[in-house]
Amino acid sequence: MDNAIKTVYETVIARDPNQPEFHQAVEEVLESLGPVISENPEYMEVVQSMVEAERVIQFRVPWYDDEGSLQVNRGYRVQFNSAIGPYKGGLRFHPSVNLSILKFLGFEQVFKNSLTGLPMGGGKGGSDFNPKGRSDSEVKRFCQSYMSELWRHIGADLDVPAGDIGVGGREIGYMFGMFRKLANEFTAGVLTGKGLSYGGSLIRPEATGYGLVYFAREMLSTKGKSFEGARVAISGSGNVAQFACEKVLDLGGKPVTMSDSGGYIYDESGIDREKLAWIMDLKNNKRGRIKEYADHFDGVDYTQSKPEPNHNELWATEVDVALPCATQNEVNEAEARMLVEGGVIAVAEGANMPCTPEAIEVFHENGILFGPGKASNAGGVATSGLEMSQNSLRMSWTREEVDQKLESIMINIHKNAFDTAEKYGMPGNYVAGANIAGFLKVAEATMAQGVL
Ligand code: NDP
Repeated sequence: MDNAIKTVYETVIARDPNQPEFHQAVEEVLESLGPVISENPEYMEVVQSMVEAERVIQFRVPWYDDEGSLQVNRGYRVQFNSAIGPYKGGLRFHPSVNLSILKFLGFEQVFKNSLTGLPMGGGKGGSDFNPKGRSDSEVKRFCQSYMSELWRHIGADLDVPAGDIGVGGREIGYMFGMFRKLANEFTAGVLTGKGLSYGGSLIRPEATGYGLVYFAREMLSTKGKSFEGARVAISGSGNVAQFACEKVLDLGGKPVTMSDSGGYIYDESGIDREKLAWIMDLKNNKRGRIKEYADHFDGVDYTQSKPEPNHNELWATEVDVALPCATQNEVNEAEARMLVEGGVIAVAEGANMPCTPEAIEVFHENGILFGPGKASNAGGVATSGLEMSQNSLRMSWTREEVDQKLESIMINIHKNAFDTAEKYGMPGNYVAGANIAGFLKVAEATMAQGVL
């Protein structure tokens, strides 16, 4: 790392020494920026300013559970960067949520949103609320309480939250209802991921998973390969994992694994459409555990595992393509080696930062195609951007129209990351390509606006 850049990184650590996930995300970006700063030394000011969030909001979220007892959670919204558009990024409800995780996600979002080519800044928010095991009424009361504070900080031209882990269509609906009541106006563009009946976009639920597979397809095509007949390991079984699985099937691939925080299933015969529909019902309606898949279908292995870096045997599965779609740091160095030994050709991140820096190094050293989340999972936020456009136009595009736009955005992101990596002397390095391409647009806008 160049000396001036290193000083910025040291300042980040000194300011918030207890935010390891944020440090990891910053380090990964800063490591890529050396060649850009050599070419444009004035951009050092941008680097200095963009590692600090524009605004961080933290608040109390009190709500009553079904027994009538008071519960108090902590709510956040990190408004990271609005140089190229309103803050945009999801809300995460998970017990692990803290400022380090939200700042890492908000920081990544700045580059990801820039890469989509749409006018969106970066932000992220959420709460340490655990929706697991909570009744629908409890989730509703929590969402309403959360929005009773958040509403004054967001707006269609200010900050537009969406879903993330633990926040799907149901939660967005409850939060939108509360926003509409408090603001006393129907501003569809204030949240994305809405239901179709009140301003949502077709394909938004599918977008991150579909976009991921479009991106991975482009990666594979640079080596003359495709998804046709490819064995695919998917982790997670939530929104991103489900629709990644669906698109892999569309392209002729064979998904063989899925997981949740309890463990993973390995289905040698492949997760076909019928089985995927069963998983979607299990996860989205029954809110069950992936273990039940192995109890229901014949010839399926279930192994208990944790996606945190350890030794998750899921990654020892022999596959051509791996799509980690659960959570951050779920593939470490040892697990990356297991994938390499299993013959993997391409790894594309569906989750945000699921591969540790050491894991990424293993992929690069072994010539494995590696797509970083800020490029490969940008389809979700891109389609959120398309939802915002439809809301502004007061129009709805068809499924085919949105899917076509999503596909062409993913092709462009891939091309941009690929060409930028080549231009800066790191051919095939999508991490560097995505970081630099995302940075350049934000840097130019920041300088033009006087680095405020
Ligand atoms: P969901 O809540 O729908 O699903 C998350 C899945 O990952 C579940 O299978 C869950 O298992 C597992 N998981 C999550 N956190 C943990 C954890 N700490 N430990 C173990 N397992 C975990 O979330 P999404 O599919 O929406 O998000 C998945 C990833 O994709 C996240 O990194 C998110 O930031 C990223 N992403 C999502 C986008 C979107 O549009 N939704 C857009 C871009 C990125 P369990 O049910 O057992 O908790």
